[in-house]
Amino acid sequence: MATMPVAGLPPISDTHVADLVVRNAKVYTGDPARPQASAVAIKDGKVTVVGDDDDVAALIGARTRVVDALGRRVIPGLNDSHLHVIRGGLNYVLELRWDGVPTLRQALAMLREQAGRTPKGQWVRVVGGWSADQFAEKRLPTLAELNAAAPDTPVFVLHLYQSALMNRAALRAAGYTRATPDPRGGQIVRGRDGEPTGMLLAAPSALILYSTLAAAPTLQGDDLKNSTRHFLRELNRFGLTSAIDAAGGFQNFPDNYGTVIDLARSGQLSLRIAYHLFPQTPGQEIQDLRRWIDMVRPGDGDEWLRLNGAGENLTWSAADFENFTEPRPELAADYEAGFEKAVRMLMENGWGFRLHATYDETIRRDLAVFEKLAAEGLFPAGNRWLFDHAETVSQDSLDRIAALGGAMSIQNRMSFQGEAFVRRYGAGAAAEAPPVRAMLDRGLIVGAGTDATRVSSYNPWVALHWLIAGRTVGDLTIYPPQNRVSRETALTMYTQAGAKLTGEQDVKGILKPGFYGDLAILSDDFFAVDEQDIPHIESLFTVTGGRIVYAAAEYEGLDEALPTISPAWSPVAYFGGYQATVKPSISGARQAELLGQAVAESEQHRQWRAQRGFTPAAAPEIFDTCFVL
Ligand SMILES: [Zn+2]
Repeated sequence: MATMPVAGLPPISDTHVADLVVRNAKVYTGDPARPQASAVAIKDGKVTVVGDDDDVAALIGARTRVVDALGRRVIPGLNDSHLHVIRGGLNYVLELRWDGVPTLRQALAMLREQAGRTPKGQWVRVVGGWSADQFAEKRLPTLAELNAAAPDTPVFVLHLYQSALMNRAALRAAGYTRATPDPRGGQIVRGRDGEPTGMLLAAPSALILYSTLAAAPTLQGDDLKNSTRHFLRELNRFGLTSAIDAAGGFQNFPDNYGTVIDLARSGQLSLRIAYHLFPQTPGQEIQDLRRWIDMVRPGDGDEWLRLNGAGENLTWSAADFENFTEPRPELAADYEAGFEKAVRMLMENGWGFRLHATYDETIRRDLAVFEKLAAEGLFPAGNRWLFDHAETVSQDSLDRIAALGGAMSIQNRMSFQGEAFVRRYGAGAAAEAPPVRAMLDRGLIVGAGTDATRVSSYNPWVALHWLIAGRTVGDLTIYPPQNRVSRETALTMYTQAGAKLTGEQDVKGILKPGFYGDLAILSDDFFAVDEQDIPHIESLFTVTGGRIVYAAAEYEGLDEALPTISPAWSPVAYFGGYQATVKPSISGARQAELLGQAVAESEQHRQWRAQRGFTPAAAPEIFDTCFVL
């Protein structure tokens, strides 16, 4: 194999030799001073040169790993600004993911197969990332179908924040009988005989869904780390190199943060995480926040794992639930008292926050509290703060947010719930839910993300497609052109905006000397593919801090090895995570031909890997050779 033409150049001093060079690429840098380039050099985790292939040639030494992008598109690593990544990681390998599955028929076949291998005492759980509208059948499974697919293994299927389906074995395992009362804000649907049918409804609180799921066994010990590492790798698969964690119910600090803290200490995170702290117990929020203020400070940590403030809930009574199949919940008349206390304490102690709010009615009440504190000179007092979700935020509220120096973080929950929203509020209201362009027009920072894993899928390309095409996963167009954004704007929202939300805009989100060496070589050119193919883009090569954290196709085997998935019966070990399907722009005979090729190639590839010892047991050495195609 040929190497890069370095012969004839003067010897280069070790101080400039790059660790990694990506060349022959179409690089979108995000840097207005140099928007396009063909090569990027990375050393010690940071970008050193962005330029053309000649510019980086002088940086290539014997120990430099050189990667030919084969003319493909390279982008800065993506940053999901609202991802429940810590909780998702602790559960990932236990979950059967229906993300991307095109038919209910396939979804049920996966469920049946998984039930067959699930050991006694364990459950099969499908926890979000899908919507009935994504299936060709356009419906949920029936309880009879669940019982037929899994007669003996408990099965729990969560559908958005709306409902959950349990088979008979799960009802038994959770101890639900005719005597079980409905929890507050939830409904256990019963048959004429008074027995639970297996359907649980959020009416409108999703607590019933999660407290039921909490009856299932969880991972313990090293399996928590294993699961988290595999989840981060799955995110790297789509070009993600950063996420801002939104905390969440059943995610206690510090207990449930131990796994990511351990992984960060041992240098095993492959995704950078900025995290938030979320009080868990209604009535105790102020004590919890007080305790944390005394323990830690925003900014604590390093470039891989750092605290970014409080939220997405500050007090439980201020949280509205976004179940669009139910009417908007009316929040308690007096939630402001406790809420103001919490915000005041955070501001006085230099703590920024993020705040979950779905409806404008909630946002207006929150803003009145912030404005009261602002009048006292206490808000925002130099602290970063933002609203999350904001599907029905009004123009007037956006003006007030801008005046208070706030930012926004929006997610493609409407990709999965757009149909339900249209049915309840009409197409006119849905066209501006959320009003993305109105946010951007005001100059607000608008971070994009998914809110995965329990509602939306974590696949960022589904979210980018939603921003650009204004369509749901069920193919319903909900936004008119004036509320969609260009591909470049969408990408900026998925890179630079997230960096601004964590105060890292000078080191993250752009490919530029001095910035983090975080990038992805894409399977298809994001700027050129058919719009309908955007959700089918994946990364082929993802780099975080100069480390190769994901590699596929020609690059397969170059990434850091992971331990085998544990437990061995994990659905992820058999099905993986997101289920990729053939691009819609490729149709009919061509699809059949490609499928045939894929089968042949996968066998060739298996042999190629076997010859090189790339089996799960033998990890490839990563930084010792020069890789040239
Ligand atoms: Zn939320």
